[in-house]
Amino acid sequence: MTTTKRETLLPYGKQLIDEDDIQAVVDVLRGDFITQGPAIERFERKIAEYVGAKYAVAFCNGTAALHGACHAAGIGPGDEVITTPVTFLASSNCVLYQGGTPVFADIDPVTYNLDPISAEKAITPRTKAIIAVDLTGQPAEMDRLSMLTHDRGLILIEDAAHSLGASYAGKKVGTWADMTMFSFHPVKHVTTGEGGVIVTDSEEYRDRLLTFRSHGTTKDPKRLTRNDGPWYYEMQELGYNYRMTDLQAALGASQMDKLDRFVERRREIARMYDEAFRSIPGLIVPKQHPAAESSWHLYVLRWDETIFAGGRDRAFAELRDRNLGVQVHYIPIYRQPYYSDKGYSAEAFPHSEEYYRTALSLPLFPAMSNDDVEYVIASVRETADLLGTFYN
Ligand SMILES: *Cc1c(COP(=O)(O)O)cnc(C)c1O
Repeated sequence: MTTTKRETLLPYGKQLIDEDDIQAVVDVLRGDFITQGPAIERFERKIAEYVGAKYAVAFCNGTAALHGACHAAGIGPGDEVITTPVTFLASSNCVLYQGGTPVFADIDPVTYNLDPISAEKAITPRTKAIIAVDLTGQPAEMDRLSMLTHDRGLILIEDAAHSLGASYAGKKVGTWADMTMFSFHPVKHVTTGEGGVIVTDSEEYRDRLLTFRSHGTTKDPKRLTRNDGPWYYEMQELGYNYRMTDLQAALGASQMDKLDRFVERRREIARMYDEAFRSIPGLIVPKQHPAAESSWHLYVLRWDETIFAGGRDRAFAELRDRNLGVQVHYIPIYRQPYYSDKGYSAEAFPHSEEYYRTALSLPLFPAMSNDDVEYVIASVRETADLLGTFYN
C-alpha cells in the first residue's frame, strides 16, 4: 500500500447541515407549532415548485410515502405491481402492506434500471401499477414506462428516493409519473432526519394521501356524510399517523435552498471518478442513458470477475480495510428470505444477478473534500493493481 490509511471511516453517504439549517429548526422550537403547523405546507410547496408538480404531501419517511401512494392508487389483494428487484426493500414492501403482490422484472444491464421490455413481459390482467426506481439517481426510462402504463390504464409510481434534482429528457423528475416519491433520509440529497414526500398533479391522489397520513380522517365539508358541528371530523377509511413534524419540515425547507449546489458537487465528484477509473481494464464505470441527467445519489463501480482475483468481494474487503465505507446497493429483493419463502427466486433475473455479484458503491456526498475524493481514487487504483496482478 502506498497511500497512508486514513484514520476515520469515510462513509458512502452523509448529510451536510449548516448553521442556517440549525437556526431554522431552533426557530420552530421557539414557536407555537412543532407538529401540524405551517412549516409543513411551506416545505410541501417548495418541493412541488422545485420539481414543477401541482401538489406535494409530506410523510414521516419515504417508506410511509410509498405506502400512501399504493393506497391512493387503490392497490389491494389480487393486484400485481411490477418493479425492479435491484432496489431498497421499501420499493416492493409498500405493495405487500396493501395486500398486493410485487412482481419483479429484470434490470437493463447498462443502466441497472428496470428494463421496459422485461416490465412489459411481466404485465398480466391483474397488473395494476408499475413502480419505477431511479437507481443511483439516474432516472428510469420514464418516457417508455409512461407509454407502457398509460396505454393500458395502469398507474405509474416513481420511487425517486435517489433522484431529487435529476432530469429525464430535459424535464425534472417529479412529473413523469402519476405519483413520485422522494426520501429525506440523511444519505439522500436533502435531509429531514427521517422524511418523505409524494408529488403529484392529481387533486384526487393529493386528497387520498392527506387522509391516509392522518388516520383516514377528513374535515372537508364536501366529503362528510353529515356534519354535527365545527368540531366534527369523519374517519371514512383506515389510515395511519404518518405525519412529518414541523421541525423536520423546517430543516427540509432550509436544505432545499442548497439542493442545486449539493447536486452540482455530486456531479463533480462523479466526473472525477469517471475520469480516474474509465481506462482501468476490468473496472466498469456507470453509464448514462442519453436522455437521463443523474443527480448522483450513488456511484456504483463494477469489478469484472474475470480480471480481478476474488472479484468484488475481495475489493470490498480491501477498501473497507482502508477505512472506506463502501457498500453494495442492493441485494436483489427476491434473495431475501421473507421473499424467497413466498416463492420468489433468482432464476428469471440474470442481469440483476450479474450486477449483484460485481457492484460496489463508493463514497459520494457533497461534504467530501477533494482530498477525500483523491483518497478514494488512490485506494481503488491500488486495489485494482493488487487484485489484477494475480492474473498477469
Ligand atoms: C431511501 C429509499 C427509500 C425510502 O426510505 P426511507 O428511509 O423510508 O425514507 C425508498 N426506496 C429507495 C430506493 C431508497 O433508497
